[in-house]
Amino acid sequence: MTYDLPAVRGTLTPNKDLSGLTWLRVGGPADWFFQPADVEDLSAFLAALDPAVPVFPMGVGSNLIVRDGGLRAVVIRLGRGFNGIEVEGDTVTAGAAALDAHVARKAADAGVDLTFLRTIPGAIGGAVRMNAGCYGSYMADVFVQAHVVLRDGTVTTLDAGDLNFQYRQSALPDGAVLTHVTLRGPMAEPQELHTRMTDQLAKRDATQPTKDRSAGSTFRNPAGFSSTGKDDDVHDLKAWKVIDDAGLRGARRGGAQMSEKHSNFMINTGQATAADLEGLGEDVRKKVYDSSGITLEWEIMRVGDPA
Ligand SMILES: Cc1cc2nc3c(=O)[nH]c(=O)nc-3n(C[C@H](O)[C@H](O)[C@H](O)COP(=O)(O)OP(=O)(O)OC[C@H]3O[C@@H](n4cnc5c(N)ncnc54)[C@H](O)[C@@H]3O)c2cc1C
Repeated sequence: MTYDLPAVRGTLTPNKDLSGLTWLRVGGPADWFFQPADVEDLSAFLAALDPAVPVFPMGVGSNLIVRDGGLRAVVIRLGRGFNGIEVEGDTVTAGAAALDAHVARKAADAGVDLTFLRTIPGAIGGAVRMNAGCYGSYMADVFVQAHVVLRDGTVTTLDAGDLNFQYRQSALPDGAVLTHVTLRGPMAEPQELHTRMTDQLAKRDATQPTKDRSAGSTFRNPAGFSSTGKDDDVHDLKAWKVIDDAGLRGARRGGAQMSEKHSNFMINTGQATAADLEGLGEDVRKKVYDSSGITLEWEIMRVGDPA
């Protein structure tokens, strides 16, 4: 599909292959790929863009399956100009392209506890959109405010009420691009925070296939939803357990596999297509339902068209 696109100061690339930009290394091209120079560039572009053209903001693709036919949209990915991190007292302001791990480390240096972000491989925009969390802490716990550019180019701020955080989701308006985020964490000794992060990295490596190509947890834990987003930590019914109980640890389809190390992690063993990965996920959902009556809900987002 061809669109008439406004002029920009950043980079606009047609027919951009997205597979190299996702953790699972699959997926077809985006019609257009836009890397804005700054907030003004992004805002002017969106204001001038035909409202009928779909816009898809992406982070570092650690929670995405882009289907093999790609995306009929303008994919917006923030880069330089959106990855600064500033700490003042207990308050951290980060560009949406800043990696969670960098934010956690820089905050820890200044004695601010955002340690839960250290082992999540996304960027801050994706962390807000997904209400990312682990080890008992979630984005919702530390979130103060976000700057966004709405689909019509309006630059505005959203607070926690606007985003209505829930388990692994938020109410970000369609096509809105988060540009900067303000977070506030408890204060603690920097050394203590760095030690905790080192321990958490080791714990991940021991229990999850961190060296494989995955997108983290494939399905939400079937705990239901809570406004605090904490149910997944206290509920017994873990997705990996129901997958194991259905005999699906290690299950394969083409190059896709449910990890032997953690059965709720789906991995690309080398040559998987997006169709292999999504198809395997749907096989698992069906078999888990048939054996236990539990309907697993995807946590990985699937976007775009089949081949
Ligand atoms: C090994 C591994 C371990 C993981 N462990 C965890 C974990 O413990 N806890 C957890 O919560 N997640 C985990 N994840 C999943 C993933 O890292 C998180 O969901 C992360 O927050 C996604 O960020 P991203 O930048 O990769 O976003 P993407 O995957 O690129 O996008 C995810 C969603 O966010 C939206 N988005 C991204 N950036 C923006 C933006 N600037 N503005 C508006 N919308 C945006 C996209 O449109 C999409 O809807 C894991 C993933 C992997 C690969």
